[in-house]
Amino acid sequence: MTGDGKSDAAPAGRGSQRLAETVAELIEKDIVKEGWRTGSVLGSERELIERYGVSRAVFREAVRLIEHHQMARMRRGPGGGLVVTEPDPGIVRDAARVYLRHAAVNRRQLFEARMALELAGVTTAIEKLTESGIARLTDALETERELIERGVTLGHARHLHRVIAELAGNPAITLFVEVLAQLDQDMVQDEWETDGRPDEGNREAAVESHQAHQAMVAAIVAGDAPLAQHRMRRHLQAVAELLKNES
Ligand SMILES: [Zn+2]
Repeated sequence: MTGDGKSDAAPAGRGSQRLAETVAELIEKDIVKEGWRTGSVLGSERELIERYGVSRAVFREAVRLIEHHQMARMRRGPGGGLVVTEPDPGIVRDAARVYLRHAAVNRRQLFEARMALELAGVTTAIEKLTESGIARLTDALETERELIERGVTLGHARHLHRVIAELAGNPAITLFVEVLAQLDQDMVQDEWETDGRPDEGNREAAVESHQAHQAMVAAIVAGDAPLAQHRMRRHLQAVAELLKNES
């Protein structure tokens, strides 16, 4: 419960708003307890109002909160009711991105956070590595090489980092690696808009980071965790050193 919507001019008073939040929390707990089965119907509006023992106004406010949390939505009409949904990772990522921009995170801080996440990710990725994982890493390197050849020098390197994070099989690492990489890309784009886009130096940096990626993948495929970590750390430090001095 985050207290979203408190600023909205709800017709109900403060007490009803608190009650709606409590009911939303109860319903969300029930969704989780029942295994978060996307598409299943929790009950009709009438049934749920009875089950949770609240007024229609309070119930509808609770539904508004639950819909905002992307855990369920009310489907009208016959066979309708509160239907369990799943959160859209894109919306979650965008929200985190907006929040971090608002909090005025700088690129150095992003790199600090990325370092911690990606070093953990690389170790777990090695522990869980399968043949298909190796194929995905190889594909990612190949895609990256093609992008650089075609002159793409922004966003080309994100794919490999995402694949490594996904191979670690930890949704928290995947989510935040994605958010941080996207945010870093946004900031580079902003810099280009202000200072103009660098050409040759940029291509050089892209080729260098591609080589670092190749070395990293080689260590991962060899199952050498300390070496893979060392290469990831060196790679991220090299990228961070390209940054302008930021406080
Ligand atoms: Zn990289």
